[in-house]
Amino acid sequence: MLTRDRWIERASGLRHPAGVFLGGEFVQAEQSLPVFSPRANGLVAEVGAAGASQVDRAVLAARAAFGRWSRSGPRVRAAYLFRLAELIERDAESLALLISVEMGKPIREALDIEIPAVARTFRWYAELAGKEPGEVADTDPSALALVTRRPAGVVAAVTPWNFPLTMAAWKLAPALAAGNTVLLKPAEQSPLSALHLASLIAEAGFPDGVVSILNGPGPVTGAALGRHPGVDVLTFTGSTAVGREFLRYAADSNLKRVWLELGGKSPNLIFADAPDLAAAADTAAWAIFFNAGQMCTAGSRLLLHRPIAEEVLARLAERAADYRPGDPLDPTTRMGPLVSAKQRDAVRAHVDQAVGEGAELALGGTPDGLYFPPTVLTGVRPDQPVVREEVFGPVLSVLTFDTEEQAVELANDTGYGLAAAVWTADLGVAHRVSRRLRAGTVWVNCYEEGDESVPFGGIGLSGHGRDKSHHALDKFTDLTTTWIALP
Ligand code: NAD
Repeated sequence: MLTRDRWIERASGLRHPAGVFLGGEFVQAEQSLPVFSPRANGLVAEVGAAGASQVDRAVLAARAAFGRWSRSGPRVRAAYLFRLAELIERDAESLALLISVEMGKPIREALDIEIPAVARTFRWYAELAGKEPGEVADTDPSALALVTRRPAGVVAAVTPWNFPLTMAAWKLAPALAAGNTVLLKPAEQSPLSALHLASLIAEAGFPDGVVSILNGPGPVTGAALGRHPGVDVLTFTGSTAVGREFLRYAADSNLKRVWLELGGKSPNLIFADAPDLAAAADTAAWAIFFNAGQMCTAGSRLLLHRPIAEEVLARLAERAADYRPGDPLDPTTRMGPLVSAKQRDAVRAHVDQAVGEGAELALGGTPDGLYFPPTVLTGVRPDQPVVREEVFGPVLSVLTFDTEEQAVELANDTGYGLAAAVWTADLGVAHRVSRRLRAGTVWVNCYEEGDESVPFGGIGLSGHGRDKSHHALDKFTDLTTTWIALP
């Protein structure tokens, strides 16, 4: 791992392609987009942004490329995805550095966690391409009925900044493997890593128009994709509020299929018989402070069995010291700044309101610039906004419970349903509770675990549809029945 000084030196020499990656080449942008770095707390670049007419051109290019790409055969498509994975690994340091500069993720986590996951995702779907056979239905002998999967067509993916390349890979890899062409609209906070990805897509030699990457403001570029009649599928990861917008865009345009991966307010339940209380407390800290709490799956509600509540909180406070915010380009930093002043203000407003309503600030609460310290609120009520709404910062609300029934009730007292965790040594409790928790993912005696083989997504206000695993292909394919009458 390079030293902080070396990373800073490299950051000052970073270059990015100009323009918009449209139809296989970088073309002059219609608009420009300022790039803010939370690390520098200021503007660091300006990049090209696509307006509505470039979105039109990109959709036409994607449509033109679709026929040939969808008929190219899975082995051909897999070869491009394998090549892209190799290039991502080759440029891991540059990609990690761009992520760290544009959204403040600690460089070590960008390099050791995010980039390897991105390369793995492209490889995983390259390996899956062509391995989802169709069916012959069990019909009456007078017919032969084939059920086949067809690529849906032109897919638009609109993604957030908290895991800029992971979110892009979760959409691009399965959609491309299944034979679709894709338009990616990255978040305006993280356009630099997306531009580098675009240059790698060009270098990998993907046919023109198979992938376009359109930076731009959400209400302009994102909305144009959402409303476009030439887009067949819209896959979105981001906030619940914007997810609702995409449903409206679809309703007002061509009823395109919309898949939503939205926010969360995930409960982390620790029972008194947890197999290793210290590990449970350490992981509870990681669950909320990793990525400065800017995680859809953040364990933002800690539900503690009353007999062990004090012990866990004491240990959690010790661990929180490991997350003292620091320069994201320092390899020892485990928590960087929040992504923007707007985000910092929103997080602070949540904490101030909770304290005004009587919550106790057990830890943290006061930011220094964009650096927000690990913050723990005790004495909160289940009906308070800080307990009910997604904060998207390093802010933990702690509640206690006495019985299993009460724990499940508190955990499910939310409109969200993305993730949950339960810590217990009792197999009966683990199974009973995990079965009753309303969430797309339930972890037992761990948090934030998983790999490409398992589906990821939520229910309720956390959206619908699944990223990752072979189930992601469902979003990007249509089932077609061919019923053949046999004489
Ligand atoms: P956001 O909803 O503000 O933005 C997400 C994307 O939507 C961006 O590309 C943005 O430009 C675009 N957008 C914004 N307004 C738009 C509009 N009016 N029309 C069209 N597009 C628009 O979210 P964010 O702040 O980038 O990301 C944080 C959110 O993402 C959190 O709520 C988090 O929970 C969620 N998230 C969910 C998952 C998951 O898999 N469930 C993963 C990561 C993040």
